Amino acid sequence: MLVDSFGRVATDLRVSLTDRCNLRCVYCMPPEGLPWLPKPELLTDDEVIRLVSLGVRRLGIAEVRFTGGEPLLRRGLPGLVAATSALSPRPEISLTTNGIGLERLAAPLAEAGLDRVNVSLDTLDRDVFVRLAHRDRLADVLAGLAAAAAAGLTPVKVNAVLMRGINDHEAVPLLRFCLEHGYDLRFIEQMPLDAQHGWRREDMVTADEIHRVLAGSFTLTPDDPAERGSAPAELFLVDGGPARVGVIGSVTRPFCGSCDRVRLTADGQVRNCLFATEESDLRGAMRAGVDDDELAARWIAAVGRKRAGHGIDDPAFLQPDRPMSAIGG
Ligand code: SAM
Ligand code: SF4
Repeated sequence: MLVDSFGRVATDLRVSLTDRCNLRCVYCMPPEGLPWLPKPELLTDDEVIRLVSLGVRRLGIAEVRFTGGEPLLRRGLPGLVAATSALSPRPEISLTTNGIGLERLAAPLAEAGLDRVNVSLDTLDRDVFVRLAHRDRLADVLAGLAAAAAAGLTPVKVNAVLMRGINDHEAVPLLRFCLEHGYDLRFIEQMPLDAQHGWRREDMVTADEIHRVLAGSFTLTPDDPAERGSAPAELFLVDGGPARVGVIGSVTRPFCGSCDRVRLTADGQVRNCLFATEESDLRGAMRAGVDDDELAARWIAAVGRKRAGHGIDDPAFLQPDRPMSAIGG
């Protein structure tokens, strides 16, 4: 088991499959992109499968989420999903994506064993999309969402980040859109994880503010907190339910105390937290020929060193060197 010194158990593995992306969301990376990891540094498909398999068979991982960068850019994705789905015990398999390409890939991925998707959608306005993501791809994202629902990758979840002065007027339209289509919407507070280090706490649209705006147009009642479990979203029934909306106060309402996540970067580093400042190099160990016992020992030790919380509020807080796109959101 992957247990840290505070007794938290990591069962949810987030695997970044690439740091590359076809969008340039302002809260994530600069318009010109980033120096991408050189291909030889990325885990091969076989290496990814070896580590995922070790996590699931030996270390208690029960849920595997593929992310990035943009995971749909990874050619081997359907094969990785299929190999994960063949593991015993079979983990839950999900994907976090910007939705571009999902129109074509949703059905094959479902066929390969993918259970669910989270699609990031911050705006319904084409011009705002271009301002926010520096690419004119809103139509592709919407088509991807529809294809995910049609392929049965449900519940289809939508992640939205509100940015002051760009899309902070869209909380209500986004919720209306998701209610109409049966998508499960979650707003996420912007975190200091952008490569440009442009995050300012005073600019952040907070969970409280999002709740206040939504409550102006919908009746929100807190959903049973027992259902929240280790999930970070505070969930509200919308107009009596059954539809719900989630608000994730990653910064103002940290959920570190119940965190059950561990991350594997595209270049094979274990990170025990999004905000960790140290990593454990499983790729180097694998390529040096260590056996599964040694890999497992290194992974267990890396989780053991997990800190109590992300410490964004601490004056000594240091933003991690890797941006979100290279960690895996
Ligand atoms: N490219 C995929 C996508 O956008 O869904 C997967 C990777 S992305 C890094 C994963 C999630 O992180 C997305 O929902 C994105 O909105 C969110 N994200 C990225 N940067 C963020 C930030 N600075 N604060 C909060 N969420 C962020
Ligand atoms: Fe790409 Fe996702 Fe980052 Fe947007 S949030 S730039 S889609 S990795």
